[in-house]
Amino acid sequence: MVDAARPQIRGRFTSCELVRREELTEDLVKFWIKPAQDYVFKPGQYCTIGVEGIERPYSISSSPDEEDIELFIEIVPVEHGGHLTPLLDHQQVGAEMTLRPRAKGIFILQPQFKHHIFVGTVTGVVPYISMLRKFLNDPNWPEPADGITREDYTFHVLEGASYLDEFGYDEELNELAEKHDFISFYPSVSRPTEERNASWAGAKGRINLLVEDYLEKLGVDPKETCVYACGHPQMIEDVGERMENTDYNFVEERFWKEDE
Ligand SMILES: Cc1cc2nc3c(=O)[nH]c(=O)nc-3n(C[C@H](O)[C@H](O)[C@H](O)COP(=O)(O)OP(=O)(O)OC[C@H]3O[C@@H](n4cnc5c(N)ncnc54)[C@H](O)[C@@H]3O)c2cc1C
Repeated sequence: MVDAARPQIRGRFTSCELVRREELTEDLVKFWIKPAQDYVFKPGQYCTIGVEGIERPYSISSSPDEEDIELFIEIVPVEHGGHLTPLLDHQQVGAEMTLRPRAKGIFILQPQFKHHIFVGTVTGVVPYISMLRKFLNDPNWPEPADGITREDYTFHVLEGASYLDEFGYDEELNELAEKHDFISFYPSVSRPTEERNASWAGAKGRINLLVEDYLEKLGVDPKETCVYACGHPQMIEDVGERMENTDYNFVEERFWKEDE
């Protein structure tokens, strides 16, 4: 019998199984899902999952050549207006969720630029992880563009979070930065004086306020550089404005709207 109180998903969908979950903090969780059907996506794209008829898009942090799809999700409590994430928080390994059969999104690597400045807040780092993993896994990706070769590329992940335990991929990014001179990781906490950040020895302040300084020190040609911004709408707005009257190229992905 159809439950009239539950939203019904219209259109085509398939399913996926939650095969692993890992809690980072009270409100940050990583999911690994196994789609019931072959699932094709480009690094930087998002999938749409659902529980009880409620669906939301989630950027994918795994590379397309990995077996499972990895997601990094912030739980928005019911009292703050969350709908799907409180349900996701209760999903245990083995749970089945709906999955739209097609990945979507145009927030993908811009191969025509040499330098890639990946700015993100907390879960906003997700699309960059997929791009970096794919770049390192696949010597034929991306396809050459405008005479630029793989050796020309540099990647700089600038990630902001309130607290040091919210970065999500800091271990991986620190390792990659140590191993490859074309990858840098620059994390910053915006609440450095709070007890939870007592052991923090890195950069301090909101990441949007640090982007211009970072670019100036890097000294790359703005015309050869793409600045990406993903995550918190205010951060994106601010970085976008800072790039507006420059020669830097700018692309963005907003996870939610400020006035929602
Ligand atoms: C292209 C795209 C990719 C996305 N990728 C991710 C991802 O990788 N990880 C992820 O956690 N979320 C991601 N989101 C956001 C996600 O789709 C949901 O909106 C979010 O998980 C909240 O879902 P909800 O149903 O619980 O709350 P909703 O009903 O969607 O929203 C409830 C309220 O919470 C606000 N809100 C939504 N997300 C946040 C947040 N993170 N912090 C504070 N307020 C918020 C909304 O603006 C709204 O006011 C993405 C969104 C888009 C459009």
